[in-house]
Amino acid sequence: MSTISKIMEHNQTFVKDEVYRDFETTKFPDKKMVILTCMDTRLTELLPKAIGFCNGDAKIIKNAGALISHPFGSVMRSILVAIYELGAEEVCVIGHKDCGMSGLRHDSFLDKVKEKGIDQNQLDFLRSAGIDLEKWLTGFDRVEDSVAHSVALVRNHPLLPEGIKVHGLVIDPHTGGLTTVEIQESITVQH
Ligand SMILES: [Zn+2]
Repeated sequence: MSTISKIMEHNQTFVKDEVYRDFETTKFPDKKMVILTCMDTRLTELLPKAIGFCNGDAKIIKNAGALISHPFGSVMRSILVAIYELGAEEVCVIGHKDCGMSGLRHDSFLDKVKEKGIDQNQLDFLRSAGIDLEKWLTGFDRVEDSVAHSVALVRNHPLLPEGIKVHGLVIDPHTGGLTTVEIQESITVQH
């Protein structure tokens, strides 16, 4: 059975058995936080568990590398929507060690694109139309630098209202352990 068929089958039972009742909440984040993190499969359940968040606690935006590639792109817009429309008061960028976007190189990526049958003429056409494929398909060297860059971009965004805290963290995808890159308040950890 295909994965999508299994999804549809599972879903029928999920709804019929009212399993959704365990997840009922609202669209407003209870902990007033919006998180930008990576789409890495290891973080799907690990990240919320590692930070003690449940369904309904935070708006979570995900992409490859937890990156904000443009100050007026969809990620920054999502962060602003979380703040203005949904009551978020803190932004947390959480990159992770061993990220696929660390070390992503445009040359090897474009080799794979061509191996999958995309014509060189198509790539040339995109370049002639002003698409900087090389820049777009390049990741970062150090996740800490990438997180710090994203934090600075959010903090300096012209549409970010006063009083919004912006933090940057790195999570270990094996242990769930967090290290801080930028924290906009003094933290107290009770053991
Ligand atoms: Zn990643």
